[in-house]
Amino acid sequence: MSVDSQGAQEGLAPSNARRPPFFFREEYAGLIVKGNFMTLAAKPKLVEEGEWLAHQVVEQYRLLEQMIDIIKVLDERTGKPICNPDVCPTMSASGHTYTWLDNNKKPIKIPAIQYINLVQKWIVGKINDPSIFPTDSVTPSSTAASYASGSLTPMSAPQPLGPTSLNAPLAQLSGRDWLGKPSGFPETFESDIKSIYRQMMRCYAHIYHGHWLDPFWNVGAYKELNTCFIHFINVGKLFGLLGDKEIEPMQPLVDIWLGNGMLPPPPARQGKENTASSNQQGVSA
Ligand SMILES: [Zn+2]
Repeated sequence: MSVDSQGAQEGLAPSNARRPPFFFREEYAGLIVKGNFMTLAAKPKLVEEGEWLAHQVVEQYRLLEQMIDIIKVLDERTGKPICNPDVCPTMSASGHTYTWLDNNKKPIKIPAIQYINLVQKWIVGKINDPSIFPTDSVTPSSTAASYASGSLTPMSAPQPLGPTSLNAPLAQLSGRDWLGKPSGFPETFESDIKSIYRQMMRCYAHIYHGHWLDPFWNVGAYKELNTCFIHFINVGKLFGLLGDKEIEPMQPLVDIWLGNGMLPPPPARQGKENTASSNQQGVSA
């Protein structure tokens, strides 16, 4: 590991004065862009929320995939991928070990790279399953690409207004509502994207805790990693896709970003002042 320039300084510190890992320090929390990520995450007014979240999940996976590719690069010294069963025998991050379910639904510990490969296969399967992500059943042009180029989704079918309170119970029986329903997403859509998000979070946690120094620091890519991750966290928090518990292994870095305004403050609850809207500075390269 070529961590000498870092390691030498660290070696001077008494071993009992444990400093946080590099990636939990302000000086390494920088990004490759300026500003915050509100504008990338905020749903355009005319886009239905389910459509927007489907687009976000696909985009977030694309970014994560690029980071995962970096830990799969073959290490010249060992001839093995950087993340391999010898160095990462379990899917771990900061004291958390994530288990996979075997065919009998029994939790098993497997090497991180195997876990990540399974997650990738599983997510790609979900994203490409038209019954879960029915992107082309709504309209052929409502794909991630069309959002990326800035166009809005075509109007989906007009939705009737909600029932009045007088006939609400009957209406609930006959016309239940769920996230993404207007765009043709199934009732399980919300739990599906939350599951996807949870697994992506675990991948980020492992990447930071297992591989920040080697390779991200060594190849000078840690700011790219931060940039993908802060966008991931911002979308996850904004749309309630991630719970605090899931973020826990990376909480100190999230706190740094909250503290310096790179992430907007959590949405205000019950009448507290909401400062999120005054924080929309956008992102500039
Ligand atoms: Zn690993």
